[in-house]
Amino acid sequence: MIYLTLYEAEYYERREGKDVQCLLCPRKCIIKSEDLSDCKARKNIDGKLYALGYNRFTSVHADPIEKKPVYHFKPGTNSMSFGAAGCNLHCAHCQNWSISQISAESNNLITVTPQNAMDIIRKNNCDTIAYTYNEPLINFEWIKDTGKLAHQNGYANILVSNGLINAKPLQELLPIIDAANIDIKAFTEDFYKDVTGFPGLKHIKKNVVTMLQEGIHIELTMLLIPTLNDSPEEIEAFANWVKETLNSKVPIHFSRFYPHYKMQHLPPTPVETVLNAKKIAEKVGLRYVYTGNLPYSEINTTTCQNCGSTLVERVNYTVKIIELGIDGNCRKCGEPSDFHL
Ligand code: SF4
Repeated sequence: MIYLTLYEAEYYERREGKDVQCLLCPRKCIIKSEDLSDCKARKNIDGKLYALGYNRFTSVHADPIEKKPVYHFKPGTNSMSFGAAGCNLHCAHCQNWSISQISAESNNLITVTPQNAMDIIRKNNCDTIAYTYNEPLINFEWIKDTGKLAHQNGYANILVSNGLINAKPLQELLPIIDAANIDIKAFTEDFYKDVTGFPGLKHIKKNVVTMLQEGIHIELTMLLIPTLNDSPEEIEAFANWVKETLNSKVPIHFSRFYPHYKMQHLPPTPVETVLNAKKIAEKVGLRYVYTGNLPYSEINTTTCQNCGSTLVERVNYTVKIIELGIDGNCRKCGEPSDFHL
């Protein structure tokens, strides 16, 4: 392959001979000279590690922010969404496997520089930029450069991610990211090991705590897969962790699984299981629990915690702001809402 421009990766060290070790995420891959990384976004060329995904994208769309899903941050606005190639996990059920499991060396990728991204956001009248579709953190360098430029231009940055990154690079992203939806794939390390290919849950939990403590607006998604992560006990353990370690106002999205990629042998999640997960989490005390991917028009409403008025109503991706005031308070009773506008 002929590379037009190569961007040297950050967070790696030289090892024996021309081997390098990537220190961007907890996988800490040792990559031999001329080899592609496990996440397929980085490559060792003659003893230097390059970020192949820099400026190279598979998908660029203006999406409703609710599609991320992010419900409590700038509701009803559009987010300019960029997806690249590769991932540091290899989930057997990946819905986006056609981009997440391919190499950033693939032909036909779309070139988008950080400056191009600003022009695209402006043309599409978006308020935010979302790093999404594949795992964005493996393109750390592009997020860092584009995110800084986005802030200078008045746009907010949204990360839609599996949350698997090492502490040092995360520290650099904290001032850049404004909101994040982190995918909690299950609440057991065994699931992570067996289904995603890496036991990353402990790192991800720690990263979510750090992001929340640093003032990033956090929402969490959990895709419920029959028999693998949908037991009432596991859902209750997850909800208890959110309540006790994060807080009860963090919005949670339980989503329905459909067979994809290498996981064709399991049926779609029964609707009842998803609705029951919502009940369990609400019983634990979580305030904002939503459902996703259900096979009918979904209504996800947010009500005022004080007077019960409807603040925001969502029917699929159509959003109606009802009693949510522009000051972020309930227009009926003045109670502060848990929205970032
Ligand atoms: S970012 Fe990619 S190359 Fe680096 S440690 Fe993680 S999986 Fe390996």
